Amino acid sequence: MLAEGAMVQGYKVLSLLGKGGMGEVYKGTDEQLGREVAIKALSPSLTQDSSFVNRFRKEAQVQAKLIHPNIVSLFALVEEFGTYYMIMEYAGGRTLREIIRSTGPIPEQRAIQILTQILNALQFAHECSIIHRDIKPTNIILDTNDRVKILDFGIAKIVGEKGMTATGQNVGTVIYMSPEQIKTPREVDHRTDIYSLGVTFFEMLSGRVPYNINTDSDFAIMNEVVNQPIPDPRQYYPHISDQTVAVLFRMLDKNPAARFGTCSEVMDALRYGIPSHQDPRQRPKQPYQQQQPAWEQNQGGQLPYQGPQGAGGYQSGPYQPGPSIDRPPFKSFMTEAILVTIFCCLIGGIMSIVYASQANSHLAAGNMDQARISAGKAKQWVTVSFWIGLVVGIIAFLSNLS
Ligand code: ADP
Repeated sequence: MLAEGAMVQGYKVLSLLGKGGMGEVYKGTDEQLGREVAIKALSPSLTQDSSFVNRFRKEAQVQAKLIHPNIVSLFALVEEFGTYYMIMEYAGGRTLREIIRSTGPIPEQRAIQILTQILNALQFAHECSIIHRDIKPTNIILDTNDRVKILDFGIAKIVGEKGMTATGQNVGTVIYMSPEQIKTPREVDHRTDIYSLGVTFFEMLSGRVPYNINTDSDFAIMNEVVNQPIPDPRQYYPHISDQTVAVLFRMLDKNPAARFGTCSEVMDALRYGIPSHQDPRQRPKQPYQQQQPAWEQNQGGQLPYQGPQGAGGYQSGPYQPGPSIDRPPFKSFMTEAILVTIFCCLIGGIMSIVYASQANSHLAAGNMDQARISAGKAKQWVTVSFWIGLVVGIIAFLSNLS
């Protein structure tokens, strides 16, 4: 246990933030840069094993490259007197667990805003071939403006290999584990995070987890995770829309192949819904296309977040997660609007104006026969434009219905 004011290399300890599965976490300051940091002391019982330390260091190197506004950055891994410390970005605020405990269910729109930030961060990490494996409300910190920071990326994997943690707790609270993480923990892929986030989303919306946890037996909970159907969250809190419940159930499908394939798909479904005529279980599932990690494409450099339209963003650029699962329920008609304007209004309109102005000139010159001919042509162009516009409009309308 570090005392207030103690120094860990260039970092000064300010106060104890809490004790987790791997050791204590302190708030501190970087004396050189004058910024707040979080200092996580790894319990010596974990770091006695040198192969563990090596794997931990490798994992930390990968994690240090994961730069995203919704992911707590890892600044350094330092050793002092045989104890290893992770120096991380300090995330001020409250954990999602504390918020749910104090306020109960989070209103749907706010819950979706929080969820979307987590999905964005996870999509980015998954594109970098990093799975969190321990998504749960205590690993999500929200500031006063509801900005999300996710803690502990990638750590669960190597600590999980050790089985029990220093404090004797299981790594990855079983309640938030996916069925496949319980059955075949070494074979999980990124979809395990989507399931764990589904349990977290259920808790945000209803104020409670979808299992019966009035038991001390991890085995009983694991059995429920693997075998019991997920209840409708509206049993506990009724003000949740059908669309959100449908998305939630699909995140929580026990079969990873029937779950959403990527976090982008979840965001699409939250926006546009899951069309009822499309049964996801019948649709052949695209396997997740693992990309070459972005930092390998960007040798040696850090992996910057590229904004909401960039590699880590919602509509990511270079990453192609496969075909979009859901067609939007409406379209903007932009193509039809442009076509109607060009072919009907513009050409027809210009021709009408040309002939009408010719008719005006002939009228002014007293040339009645020519004026009549030009006016007749102007009328024809107005009529043709009108009917073409009407027909194209009807075709566009009908094609949108089908
Ligand atoms: P656990 O292993 O249970 O997930 P942690 O060891 O990650 O717990 O964290 C213990 C406590 O420290 C928690 O209350 C957590 O909110 C807090 N904490 C961890 N990392 C940070 C951070 N980067 N910024 C602020 N608080 C943090």
